[in-house]
Formats: sequence, structure tokens, C-alpha cells
Amino acid sequence: MAGEIWVLVEQWRGRVSDVTYEVLALGREVSAATGASLQAVLLGSDVKDLLPTLGAADGVLVTEHPTLGEPVSEIWALALAQLVERHQPLVLLIPQTNVTMEIGSLLATRLRLPFVNFCRDIQVTDKRLVARCLLYGGKVEATVAPQTPAVLGVLPGVRPQEQGRAERTPTVTAISLDLPAEPPVRFKGYTEPPPGDVDITRENILVAVGRGIQRPENVALAEELAAALGGAVCGSRPVIDQGWLPPSRQVGTSGMIVKPQLYLALGISGAPEHVQGMKDAALIIAINTDPRAPIFSVAHYGAVVDALEVLPVLTEIARSRRRVA
Ligand SMILES: Cc1cc2nc3c(=O)[nH]c(=O)nc-3n(C[C@H](O)[C@H](O)[C@H](O)COP(=O)(O)OP(=O)(O)OC[C@H]3O[C@@H](n4cnc5c(N)ncnc54)[C@H](O)[C@@H]3O)c2cc1C
Repeated sequence: MAGEIWVLVEQWRGRVSDVTYEVLALGREVSAATGASLQAVLLGSDVKDLLPTLGAADGVLVTEHPTLGEPVSEIWALALAQLVERHQPLVLLIPQTNVTMEIGSLLATRLRLPFVNFCRDIQVTDKRLVARCLLYGGKVEATVAPQTPAVLGVLPGVRPQEQGRAERTPTVTAISLDLPAEPPVRFKGYTEPPPGDVDITRENILVAVGRGIQRPENVALAEELAAALGGAVCGSRPVIDQGWLPPSRQVGTSGMIVKPQLYLALGISGAPEHVQGMKDAALIIAINTDPRAPIFSVAHYGAVVDALEVLPVLTEIARSRRRVA
């Protein structure tokens, strides 16, 4: 197979995201199976300090430009299109997060390349790339063997990040690109959580509510349990989209990645976009009325029961244990 294996580095606010190392680990396997070299692709405005963190790659292609300072999908796709046209990699692997999720589709459309999104694994079989990807929010898994060159969006968690980390400064190739000084889409600013709001990434105990909580007033039941346990409430995206909890409480690929000691999932189905945000919790307990809900496959313990019935009972138990202690 001709061409290199490329991995787009998701770097954001001066830090390479963990998912980049996960995808680099996968890229290393694809590289070994194809005999192609593994290149990290680093875009940004002042990113040289990040190079030593990318030692798992054989080399790093770096493009620095003021308009690449923030990961604006349209501009990054424009830069990648020039790089891909010029260097013709075999495949470009893009970590799928809320920062990078639009880049692959924009790039593939621009270059008319095959695009396989939501990949949970990629193998090389009979000299062909074979991707396993999730469709319809994880309800269907498809096996796709795209023609190459191809763009593949890779879900977080594809490999342990430690496998993609190496203390070594790789070979660096600086590439200048012709990018607009006044891009059509401009970064305006980040929306920070309100001061004083809970940072769910730092909580040890999270009571998470999904659409199964049914009504906004029922969120108070979860608040009471969280207070009794000494934790905080978070939620799945539909709960946030409906304004029942603030955006800072969303768990998942377009929200926060959390790793608490206890994650109690109430009325959450377990869509991959949610699971990616909480699967590394030390203890996951799921409560759902549907015994076939996918959340049970990531939960350590589960109960098929109505969350609205069980919530006040759990709160009472937690309160009485606190009183005893
Ligand atoms: C690009 C993209 C990004 C996304 N990012 C995120 C993200 O960051 N986070 C996220 O969460 N989602 C995200 N999603 C949405 C995701 O695909 C799912 O739609 C979402 O996670 C489903 O939320 P849910 O589990 O609360 O709702 P549902 O899937 O509707 O599940 C509700 C569950 O509640 C159960 N239930 C109903 N009543 C009760 C009851 N009384 N007691 C107990 N159980 C009950 C049902 O059996 C069901 O399993 C994203 C989607 C896309 C396309």
C-alpha cells in the first residue's frame, strides 16, 4: 500500500488532547500492518512546544499560521485539503470530538474522498483498510472497506492512550500553506461555564440523568440524591438541549469527559456519544426500564427499574447512612 498513515493532532488551548494519543496508537498498528510510515499532522499558530509529546509518530508535519490558532473546522479542513493534495497520504485519521467532528466531512467533500465516520476500530485485511463504525447513535455497527486514499473519523477510546505516548522528539517537517488572512469563518471566543458552577470533571460522585427522567421537575429528585451522596448532577445531551441542566453539566463527546469514582446513570440509554464521556468511571451503575439498553453493557451493576420510583428510595438510604456515620 502506497502513502503514509496520517493522524490529525487535536490540540486545543495549548494542549494535545488524550484522544490524539489513542488514535496515534491505532495509527501505529495500521502503519505496522501496511508498512507505511506514521505521521502526526499538527496545525496551529504557535505549537512547537507540543512536538516532543508526539514521539509515537515517525514524523510530524507541522503547519503554523495565525488563522489556525483555534480549531475552526472550515479553516482546518482547508489546510488539510492542501496538505493531502500535496502529499497524498494513504489515510487520514481524525479523532472525533466536539472540537474536530466537522473537519472530516468538510475535507472529504472538498477533495471528493471516501469518508468513514464514527470508527471504533480499523484493521488491515487482505491489504485493505477495514473499519468498524457505528451508525444511528450506536444501534447499528457497519463494516466498511473504503477505497484509499480515505478520511476516517475515529471515536475516542479506540486504544489506551498510553500506547500512543512516547518521550521522543520525532522528525519534524514544517510546511507552509496558502491560507486566507481573513477567513470566511472566524473564531469569536469560548463560552466559559458560569463562575461558581460545578466542574463535573472534578467530582467523585456523579448522578447522571437522561431523557428517562421525563420532566424537568424530576431533575430535583436527582439533585437530592446527589446532595445526599456528596456529589453533583450531570446529564445526557437531550437533558441539556431541553434546558433542564446547564451545558456545563453535559457528559459525552460534545460535552465533558468524566472519570468519577461513581457514575450513576438514570434513564440514559447508553448511546456511544454519551458512553465515550463516562466509560472510564471507576464504578458505573445503570438504572433503566429497558433491559436491552446499551448502557448495561458498560455498567458494572444495573437495575431494570423505574428511575423515578428508585430515586427517593436511594436518597433516603444515602441520608440515613450519613446520619449513622
Ligand atoms: C454529533 C453528536 C454528538 C453527540 N454528543 C452527545 C453527548 O455529548 N452526550 C450525550 O449524552 N449525547 C450526545 N449525543 C446524542 C446521543 O446520540 C443520544 O441521542 C443521547 O445520548 C441519548 O440520550 P438519553 O440516553 O438521555 O436518551 P434516550 O436515548 O432517549 O434514552 C432514554 C432512556 O431512558 C430509559 N427510560 C425511560 N423512562 C425511564 C424511567 N422512568 N426509568 C428508567 N429509565 C427510563 C429508556 O429505556 C431509554 O433507554 C450526540 C449525538 C451526535 C449525533
